[in-house]
Amino acid sequence: MNTSKADQLKQHFFTRVINQARQVLDLWRCLHDDQWQNDRMQDLLLANEKLLRFAQRFESDKFSQIAQQVHTILKSVKASGNSGLPNSEQLNQLNDLMMQLSQNVLRRSDNDKTPTQVVVKKPVYVALNDTDNAVLLAQQMEYFGLRAELFSSEESLDIALHKRRPLAIIMDINFQSSDNGLTIVKRHLNENKDTSSTPVIFYSADPMSLPQKLEGLRLGGISSIESLAPQAIITQLEALVNLVPEKPFRVLVVDDSKSQAMFTERALNAAGMITKTVIDPMMVWETLEAFQPELILMDMYMPQCNGVELAKVIRQDKHYINIPIIYLSGEEDKNLQLAAMAEGGEDFLTKPVDPQHLLSTVRTRGRRARELHHLIARDSLTGLFNHTHILKALDEQINQAKKHKTPLCFVMVDIDLFKQVNDNHGHPTGDEVIKNLALFLSQRLRKTDYIGRYGGEEFAVVLTNASIEDAYKIMDDVRINFSQLLHGGLAAINATFSCGIALYQGQSSSELIGLADQAMYFAKRDGRNCVKTSPSLD
Ligand code: GH3
Ligand code: MG
Ligand code: MG
Repeated sequence: MNTSKADQLKQHFFTRVINQARQVLDLWRCLHDDQWQNDRMQDLLLANEKLLRFAQRFESDKFSQIAQQVHTILKSVKASGNSGLPNSEQLNQLNDLMMQLSQNVLRRSDNDKTPTQVVVKKPVYVALNDTDNAVLLAQQMEYFGLRAELFSSEESLDIALHKRRPLAIIMDINFQSSDNGLTIVKRHLNENKDTSSTPVIFYSADPMSLPQKLEGLRLGGISSIESLAPQAIITQLEALVNLVPEKPFRVLVVDDSKSQAMFTERALNAAGMITKTVIDPMMVWETLEAFQPELILMDMYMPQCNGVELAKVIRQDKHYINIPIIYLSGEEDKNLQLAAMAEGGEDFLTKPVDPQHLLSTVRTRGRRARELHHLIARDSLTGLFNHTHILKALDEQINQAKKHKTPLCFVMVDIDLFKQVNDNHGHPTGDEVIKNLALFLSQRLRKTDYIGRYGGEEFAVVLTNASIEDAYKIMDDVRINFSQLLHGGLAAINATFSCGIALYQGQSSSELIGLADQAMYFAKRDGRNCVKTSPSLD
């Protein structure tokens, strides 16, 4: 067998491993949308067994190891006699493994010796009357790792739609004739009733009427746009390719009744949430620090103090000032309930609590708290982590790297001669370059990496599970591609950046940042538009 044939076969098998891993991740995500049930658990178990077989056949150690560990935990969940439901410890471990799995799907390390470009991403079908703009859009999408297929006739689009389901469709509502885009999507939807609808971005060169917008929405439209600005479109498409599972909620249960606490924990675990119980309210402080919950379920009546008092004390600490607290109370504590409301209690659940009601309350409050945290932790121009939170992410990921013995790199990125961009083309154009780089980094890096705006035109990245060689390749590839992007509309200007990378080798986070900063300084000194590493690769 010649080498190219061997490569092809290898590629074929590796694609199967990747696809199966995606399936496992999908099933894992579905488990969290609802409550865990035996048949769904069984599906996950089977899908994972298949992944294990594929990975062993392909001799992919990483995927085999992860699948093997997932298998062991799922088996122990089944055997635990907890009606087939996982406990917090098992959920925690599974979540860790699923994160690792998604990291490996999103970026393969080079020790795997797999051919490049094996992960065939679904194409985005583009049906626009304005072919010049369609070509431009396709080019820009390519830089962001998205593959566009262009169509200039209804017939060719129909054939393609019958052949395979695209990631999304970008559709001119007046494709070839008035309202024809809407008609095509409608027909396609009717022909494929059993499958969930394909996401569509509807475009119109003229302002859309309300009936057109409504019809678009009903046909699975995720948005309707009146400009073909690539960045806005790419941001929307990016949400569709997100593979990383959402982290499970962490809920602290404070209740002096052991049986009540166990009941609450089981209900929450059954929905994939991680819990910890404090029976003695005097011990709450230690647990808060160690467990870092996102939400607290607080019993109202406890012997040493009542829930409202304890909540007040917790909220006095600036770390927990925004943490949602939901009270659990018996019918008889009506006065306490009123007092709690006056103190700004988030919500009230009366015992005995209906598990469904408990879950939906915790989910709603938890999501809201996450959204708020997202707003606080993000930079408003770019949507990336702000300075404080990228440093927090670095500390967290250093701990993870120590725990799992995985490599980690810290990266500093600084746009070259940015003052000139502002001086020559104006501040708004400068802002656009910053936004484009932010979007570009978000697209090119894995969703398990952490990207922050470190300062004005400086960015910081935490590359998880990446060696210094990996990190260099990744960032150099980003650098080359970014330099080809055009900014500022008609001004069509290019921009470049310099980059410094440091490998974590047991230093403190500030030492690590110092090393990355120094590497970046060398990049600037050596003429900019390049990547330098510490330790140096040459
Ligand atoms: P070097 O290649 O050495 O990094 O040169 P430089 O011009 O990029 O570096 P310098 O630090 O001298 O200038 C950075 C400029 O970035 C100065 C500041 O006005 C501009 N800047 C910082 N934040 C923003 C921002 O949010 N928007 C815009 N438009 N400009 C910004
Ligand atoms: Mg600077
Ligand atoms: Mg600069």
